[in-house]
Amino acid sequence: MKITNFEQLPLSAPIQRALAEKGYTKPSQIQARAIPVLLKDRDLLACAQTGTGKTAAFALPLLHKLSQSNRKPFRRGVRHLVLTPTRELASQVAESFKVYGQYVEFQYGLVYGGVSEKPQIKQLFKGLDILVACPGRLIDLMEQGHVDLSQVETFILDEADRMLDMGFIRDIRKIEGKLPKERQTLLFSATMASEITKLGQAMLHRPEEIRIAPQGTTAEKINQSVCFIAKGAKQKYILELLKQHVEENPRELTLIFTRTKHGAKHLAKKFNQEGLIADSIHGNKSQNAREKTLERYRQGEIDILVATDVAARGIDVKNITLVINFDLPMESDAYVHRIGRTARAGESGQAISFCSLEEVALLRQVERLIKKPVPVLRDQPYHEQDIEDLHLSDRPVKKPAQGGGNRQRRGKPSNNSGNHSRSNFRGKSGGNSGSQSNSRANKANKSNRTQRNRNR
Ligand code: AMP
Repeated sequence: MKITNFEQLPLSAPIQRALAEKGYTKPSQIQARAIPVLLKDRDLLACAQTGTGKTAAFALPLLHKLSQSNRKPFRRGVRHLVLTPTRELASQVAESFKVYGQYVEFQYGLVYGGVSEKPQIKQLFKGLDILVACPGRLIDLMEQGHVDLSQVETFILDEADRMLDMGFIRDIRKIEGKLPKERQTLLFSATMASEITKLGQAMLHRPEEIRIAPQGTTAEKINQSVCFIAKGAKQKYILELLKQHVEENPRELTLIFTRTKHGAKHLAKKFNQEGLIADSIHGNKSQNAREKTLERYRQGEIDILVATDVAARGIDVKNITLVINFDLPMESDAYVHRIGRTARAGESGQAISFCSLEEVALLRQVERLIKKPVPVLRDQPYHEQDIEDLHLSDRPVKKPAQGGGNRQRRGKPSNNSGNHSRSNFRGKSGGNSGSQSNSRANKANKSNRTQRNRNR
């Protein structure tokens, strides 16, 4: 049976009511296919394009189950656990549970680093139906005995490919080790490299697999283009572009990605000097400052947000109609996630990428991933035909040096997402034992990480 409206799905009345109030009538493809599978308690590996409603696809069946059950969470216990790679995404997912579950009685909590542990410990003490967490802080609290995961019924990895890559996999394994063997496990992502899929499959028991579009594809409604431009001309051009865009589209939001924290801060400052209303978010800002900025952006108080990849995944802000890659990302899947911040929920949007001579290798790897060329915007004052010619040629090109931008190597944890505040070198006994060797290791680890992430 083809599912064309929510009423065809066996979701309880409180959920249907919240959906109707939210104005959702038709389930998205991923929702129509995933919800029935999840209601049957099956494990699931789901891949769907950015902005196509993955959060509701896992949140609605969970809330349905909670609405049908009288079981109460036990002290420090968690019934359903959702892990996300960034704090911003964790808080957005928790907000979705709140909205979709407004007529369901349930306790939910949110755990991530960069803010005080105390309120989180208090929340956990009572026991939670749903916990949305970033891995680093969760492990800290787990090791201090504040949370008991032994009776988790559902384990969900949002942005699963990121969670299973080497930056997070040790943490995920540690958390998984505390979960009961018998549980439902769900992996959701927009991109999923095959080696990561294999890792994920090892966590799943006879899973269903749903792939709505081939992995790495970008939403059709994003109008993509690339500008071949000299590195030194980028700032001038972006200012011209933005001034025109803000003037013509005063109510629309623009999101700009840079490779480094310094770059994000510098650009936002420059925009302000030029009379544009802009701010930045990046790993050097405190969590509170990041959240405040994001909220002001959501409310339309800021027209332009300049961000590092902290904002690349999952962040759902209405009205972002233009995404600009001021720098191309070092990793091609980040491109798909970055531009996926526009054209959400069936809307359309525009994504412009700047490609300098040094970035040709990065553009080539993006096009390999998305399996199509990005259309060239030649009708711009800084067009560099030489760069385009190099791009089209067979000449081998090197990726820019890590030191020139992103120091994070694939496979290394990044503080960028802000949830690796926990030390990876903590002694086996856990906790803050304060032993000298541990503190030395902590220092060494911290300085390594600082070195790696200096620029983000
Ligand atoms: P997500 O991919 O979960 O971040 O969702 C992307 C956007 O789509 C969010 O703004 C949701 O509120 C919206 N959305 C999700 N499901 C639906 C639906 N069935 N109908 C309309 N909008 C939806």
